[in-house]
Amino acid sequence: MLDQKNKAGAGWLKSTGPAAGLLLIVLCASIIGLGWYRETQLRDSDIRAAELEAGNLARSLIQQAEDSVELVDNALIGIVHWLENFRDRPNAIKHLQDLLHLRKATLPRLRGLFVYAADGSWIATSETENIRGHNNSDRNYFRQHRESGDRGPLIGQPVRSRSGGQWIVTITRRLNGPNGEFAGVVLASLDVGYFVRNFSQFEVGREGSLALLRTDGTLLARYPFDDQVVGRNFSGSSFYRHATNEQSGTVHFLSVLDGVARISAYHRSQKLPLMMLVARGRDEVLAPWRTEAYWRMSMVIGLTLVMGVLGLLMLRELASRQRLLRTVSSREAEFRLLAEASNDMVSRIAFDGTLTYVSPSSQRILGWSSEELVGGQALAGLSPEDRSTVESVVADLKRGSKSEAMIAYRTRHRTTGTVWLESSLSVTRDPQTGRVNGVVAISRDVTEHKQLEGHLSRLATLDSLTGLANRRFLDDRAERELALARQTANPVSLVLIDADHFKAFNDTYGHLAGDNCLQQIAAVIQSHSTRPGDLAARYGGEEFALLLADTDADGAMVVAQRIRAAVEELGIPHVGNSAAGVVTVSLGVATASVTTKLRTLKDVIRQSDQALYRAKEAGRNRALDDRELMQSPTLQPSLAIPSVELANVTEPPQLR
Ligand code: GH3
Ligand code: MG
Ligand code: MG
Repeated sequence: MLDQKNKAGAGWLKSTGPAAGLLLIVLCASIIGLGWYRETQLRDSDIRAAELEAGNLARSLIQQAEDSVELVDNALIGIVHWLENFRDRPNAIKHLQDLLHLRKATLPRLRGLFVYAADGSWIATSETENIRGHNNSDRNYFRQHRESGDRGPLIGQPVRSRSGGQWIVTITRRLNGPNGEFAGVVLASLDVGYFVRNFSQFEVGREGSLALLRTDGTLLARYPFDDQVVGRNFSGSSFYRHATNEQSGTVHFLSVLDGVARISAYHRSQKLPLMMLVARGRDEVLAPWRTEAYWRMSMVIGLTLVMGVLGLLMLRELASRQRLLRTVSSREAEFRLLAEASNDMVSRIAFDGTLTYVSPSSQRILGWSSEELVGGQALAGLSPEDRSTVESVVADLKRGSKSEAMIAYRTRHRTTGTVWLESSLSVTRDPQTGRVNGVVAISRDVTEHKQLEGHLSRLATLDSLTGLANRRFLDDRAERELALARQTANPVSLVLIDADHFKAFNDTYGHLAGDNCLQQIAAVIQSHSTRPGDLAARYGGEEFALLLADTDADGAMVVAQRIRAAVEELGIPHVGNSAAGVVTVSLGVATASVTTKLRTLKDVIRQSDQALYRAKEAGRNRALDDRELMQSPTLQPSLAIPSVELANVTEPPQLR
């Protein structure tokens, strides 16, 4: 199930990995694209604003130019009217001259007024120069008026003034004779400088320009002023080609004069053959936008790149997880293959002790199916005797102080009761963090092995004839008790017990009867080994020992006397033991305590053996301790060692 889920996850990642990469690229490109689209919108809006502003300015300036020309033209109309009606008056030329001076004085923008006769000769002028000898019949406007009967004003090509040398624009009207014939031309001239000065009041930037043109493309005035372009015809320029038809409009063009790309607006006069062109340098108009767009786009691209890099890192992480998942799922499959083929029970235990997987062998080993066990606690059936040991090992594994352990413990089998399991435990770790996240246990049933082991251990420690502990076991226990006694200062006593005249018993009753007698004596001794620290042992041949932990000499003597009496009370006939007629034993008691200074097992055995020897010497069937021996070891045993007969003991001086 888990395996399938992992596989599905890996497959999903595998198929979506490249798609996610593509999506990331598309996303980043879209963000940058949208950012750029917005910038172009802002740029276009700046361009539209510049166009609008230029259009308004063009409309306003053409109006001003119209007004200027009309003012001058009004003066011309007055002069034409006066001439056509009063030219025959006496002193007409003088009056005309006065009229011209008057007009010029009232119209400061007027450069000069001239009246030419039908042959081109000068009749009168507002200027002070001498009129004789000048002839203007070669001028274009003169020829046009002469050849066309049109009475409207004619705005001429800019020309250099014959009188002053500066650029002027001429406005002329035809003079008719009494019969409508051509009678000459009235001319007013305007300084190009007048327009240029007017234009210079408007801010159009370093690359901007303001130009007044005739509708045939002839440039009349331009700001900034350029001597080279006044009077030049621009009808062939790209701007002009765009601007011919409409009343007003906008044109983007590359200037033929300086190669600068310009945004321009033009406006034609409705009354006069004039048009105004207001142009702004495109780069100049867009400079503020460019600066801001540069920063905005830098931010967008920067943030997008950061996003892209983070996305790539996430994709890499995704890919490495994908690889990890594949590895995990293939390992999982291998694990299951091995676990399910194994005779041992393989289980996985989560950090909280829950079983997450149990191999099918659980049915044979514990009597429960893996489905019944999974989800339960791993230590649920653990025997209370082994709980603390197992829990301490588990705690070590969880802490990480061990990564492997081998434990044997008892646990519940569904039908047969308790089984011994031996488990090899290995911790599992989270592949990401490396932290311990559980344990894999490989467990086998070692019940039979444990039973055999118990049996062997018993064989190794027990005496086969009597069932008591053997001497080796006694030695080990005695050493341990003495070591403990040295730490706690508690006394430890040893009683050595030897059958009296036993050789004679064998000789009389046979060896088998001897064995049987030894078994009965052993049973008596065993029955006096009542406390957990006591140990009855066969010391060798017909000699026995009883180790009495935490027992002083008095207590040990009481026990010794009871054994002695109990053996005698068995009443096993023994003719060779003439004093009693029944089987008796002699006992020697030694005590290791703070006062006796007996420290080693050897000391205690030697001392109890001597006491036993004294008991034999004193007539057998008695118990002696080593106390007086220790005080005066040279005394004759019969005198020195008091024998304590059971009959003399009414109450034990110190019950254990
Ligand atoms: P004492 O009162 O001085 O102890 O005399 P004793 O005869 O008991 O002395 P000794 O130690 O010389 O003899 C011990 C005898 O115990 C020798 C042996 O025949 C007998 N014996 C030792 N082990 C066994 C045994 O396992 N079975 C039998 N039946 N007899 C044994
Ligand atoms: Mg003996
Ligand atoms: Mg003996």
